[in-house]
Amino acid sequence: MTLDQLVRHAALRLQAAGSPSPRLDAEVLWMHVTGRDRTWLYTWGDRTWGDRTRGDRTAVDSAEARWQQARFDALIAARAQGMPVAYLTGEREFHGLALATSPETLIPRPDTETLVEAALERATAASGRLLDMGTGTGAIALAFAGERPGWQVDGVDIGPEAVALARDNAARLEIGNVSFVHGDWFSALADDPLLAFDLIVANPPYIDAADPHLRQGDVRFEPRSALVAAEAGLADLRHLVDRAGGYLTPGGWLALEHGHTQARAVRDMLDQAGYARVASLRDLGGHERVTLGRQPGD
Ligand code: GLN
Repeated sequence: MTLDQLVRHAALRLQAAGSPSPRLDAEVLWMHVTGRDRTWLYTWGDRTWGDRTRGDRTAVDSAEARWQQARFDALIAARAQGMPVAYLTGEREFHGLALATSPETLIPRPDTETLVEAALERATAASGRLLDMGTGTGAIALAFAGERPGWQVDGVDIGPEAVALARDNAARLEIGNVSFVHGDWFSALADDPLLAFDLIVANPPYIDAADPHLRQGDVRFEPRSALVAAEAGLADLRHLVDRAGGYLTPGGWLALEHGHTQARAVRDMLDQAGYARVASLRDLGGHERVTLGRQPGD
């Protein structure tokens, strides 16, 4: 079988199993197993992989090739069962960073770029302090810290595995202006009355437990604790709005990701908590995805 055929068969199998992106999944898993890039795959697609019996002298035939093919088959089988590609490869790109992922954390999503951009736009000073609540892989904290080396970034997560993963990501990406701590929202922070952040951001759990979307696709494999919140998904957003004010500098911003039907509710919470310049921003799909407000002051 040629390399092209191998990937095409895998893609057909994933399509039959209901993957929304069968060809991409097959290519990504193949690249993961072989350590080759897409250009290589397209250049050498007519090579026979792991089989020289038909007299094809260009065939790649080695114990390694056979092992890779077996490994690829196993990954395709797991993907056909629904396992997210990011958990199979152990990584996902976010904001140009290759982040390690694990089933203990949410897989970073392109929609969350809206939150990163909102934070970067408001971080115009050369230095400052940003807090990322519920950091997971560390995606938001690391994306921001990488672009604002003069800022100190803190990330908090209630899962010790998430904190360990976020620290590993920071070390591997050599992003030094970030630290991660373990704990339950604001109680994780040092008991210091002078502690204050210029920006607090969060992508908290915000899905209603009864949302049918939780029974479809990749989210089935993600930790519920990172997805589901009480009060129709609003409980953690409300907790963050209630508590963040005590940790913001005068003029500091709170920016929250939320579900596309929750923007109005989050704007109301911020208005009631006394925030100024309350507004919502749209994600790449055109949905209101982030709502922010500014502490009165400077
Ligand atoms: N945006 C994610 C989804 O709809 C949910 C992320 C979250 O709950 N923070 O799957």
